[in-house]
Amino acid sequence: MIPKKIIIVGGGTAGWMCASMLAKKWHAHAVQITLVESKKIGTIGVGEGSTPFLRQFFQSLNISEKEWMPACDATYKCGIAFPDWCGANAPKSYFHPFYSEIDSPLVNDFFNSCQQRREGYNSPCLPDDYFITAYLAQQNKAPYTPKNETLGVDYGYHFDAEKLGNFLSKYAQSLGVRHINDKVSAVKHLDNNIETISTEYHGILRGDLFIDCSGFNGLLIQKTLGETLTSYEKYLPNNRAVAIATQHDDTSQYGTYTLSKALESGWMWSIPLQSRIGNGYVYSSQYLSNEDAEQQLRKALDEYTAPALHLSWTPGRINQHWKGNCLAVGLSQGFLEPLEAPMLNLVQQTCEAYIEYSERFENNAETRSQFNHMINRFIDGTRDYLQAHYAVNSRNDSQYWIDNRNNTHQSTTLKSLINGWKSTESFDAVLARHCNELVYAKTSWYCLFSGMGHYHPHQKGELDLSNQKWQNAKNHCQNLADKFVNQSALFSPSLEYV
Ligand SMILES: Cc1cc2nc3c(=O)[nH]c(=O)nc-3n(C[C@H](O)[C@H](O)[C@H](O)COP(=O)(O)OP(=O)(O)OC[C@H]3O[C@@H](n4cnc5c(N)ncnc54)[C@H](O)[C@@H]3O)c2cc1C
Repeated sequence: MIPKKIIIVGGGTAGWMCASMLAKKWHAHAVQITLVESKKIGTIGVGEGSTPFLRQFFQSLNISEKEWMPACDATYKCGIAFPDWCGANAPKSYFHPFYSEIDSPLVNDFFNSCQQRREGYNSPCLPDDYFITAYLAQQNKAPYTPKNETLGVDYGYHFDAEKLGNFLSKYAQSLGVRHINDKVSAVKHLDNNIETISTEYHGILRGDLFIDCSGFNGLLIQKTLGETLTSYEKYLPNNRAVAIATQHDDTSQYGTYTLSKALESGWMWSIPLQSRIGNGYVYSSQYLSNEDAEQQLRKALDEYTAPALHLSWTPGRINQHWKGNCLAVGLSQGFLEPLEAPMLNLVQQTCEAYIEYSERFENNAETRSQFNHMINRFIDGTRDYLQAHYAVNSRNDSQYWIDNRNNTHQSTTLKSLINGWKSTESFDAVLARHCNELVYAKTSWYCLFSGMGHYHPHQKGELDLSNQKWQNAKNHCQNLADKFVNQSALFSPSLEYV
């Protein structure tokens, strides 16, 4: 049943994405939407990378790249580079590309090469060689399909989180969303139903659905309705980050990929925006102090004066994302960590699923239980993919990496995938056995295991550089990449922007 009066608490990326989607979808249903946020409390101020799902988000709102990208300082993202996640006898770096239709002629050669390698043959099987977005990323080219080409390349974006919130705020308000800048000071509820929220200066607000987008505060779902976070600390090591922005050395060369480089006790991101580079170090407080993390990041960036933002969290999730008349969206649902940038996708999936369930079903215990099961499956499947990065690392230079590799707390699905890859069984068959639990697609699992060199020692001999299929793949991708333009040229005022 579609609610008539919706109150959203929180105006971060989650709050405004949610408001935009609901306002667009239910415009014709005369649904009243009010978003309350406290500018004094502010937003988290990080979260700058997306997956290709954000493209669908903007398409569903009929907002073109020409409108939103310049307003949000946004750049294109072809995928993620992972240098230094492995020790000796494994690749120095690998690329996790966004797979698209354009890759389909070669993707089976990649899968077959991996299979041969698992059987002990020396076929080259680094994902970087087989996917078009990896070539575009190496050359700072935009994945935007060139004129007169019908082949589509899928991609994500980098953006300034605050500007994205502001952009969506204007969009949502243009569709009638009411915006209140005030602090929610009290919440009244009866059992699992929220009745009213009180604000400091705008009185009492009533609604029939309350959406908790209050971030780590979890004001409605956690503090009021008592949902507690199930900690995933035993699976995922990181609970801290420090972020420092830097300037571009060369503005004619904006990168088109996220850099996720492993450091001594965690990993560092670098995200190129149009006006700056967002950087951060994600680490575990068990192995590194905040001060040492900041120093290590400054050294890696050679940046000693720019301000640093320190953040902390407990990795985990709540169990009931829809409880009574309250829906949790964003960080109030929980947070894993920034690796692979999956969290805005969770925001999108939660809102889309809520819209679908509300249109089709009554708000009752069974509906909510099915919904919550689906969202939990999504988060847990994401967690498995993230944990796999740590589980198959082969670094021996710090206790952090050794302990993560030796961590025996893994879901049965993840254990089965990790062992299955090293077995002689077809990996497709292993994936098929777990198809109900997986969130990341086959290509992503192959790229991760092969890119991290997760092979038996006897499978790791010298590569066969005369391999014809590999040579063909490289030529094919390079020829295609030649047709794409440099991202900076695309943003230049002299060229028509996408
Ligand atoms: C280090 C780090 C890196 C990340 N990187 C990525 C990434 O690359 N990609 C990605 O997809 N995600 C990333 N994330 C996650 C991403 O930042 C969040 O998912 C996203 O920003 C959504 O946050 P939010 O809107 O839920 O919370 P917030 O941005 O914290 O917003 C909370 C809102 O609630 C309001 N509020 C709170 N209490 C009250 C109150 N009492 N009254 C009124 N208003 C209130 C605040 O004012 C604010 O408007 C990252 C997270 C971290 C910690």
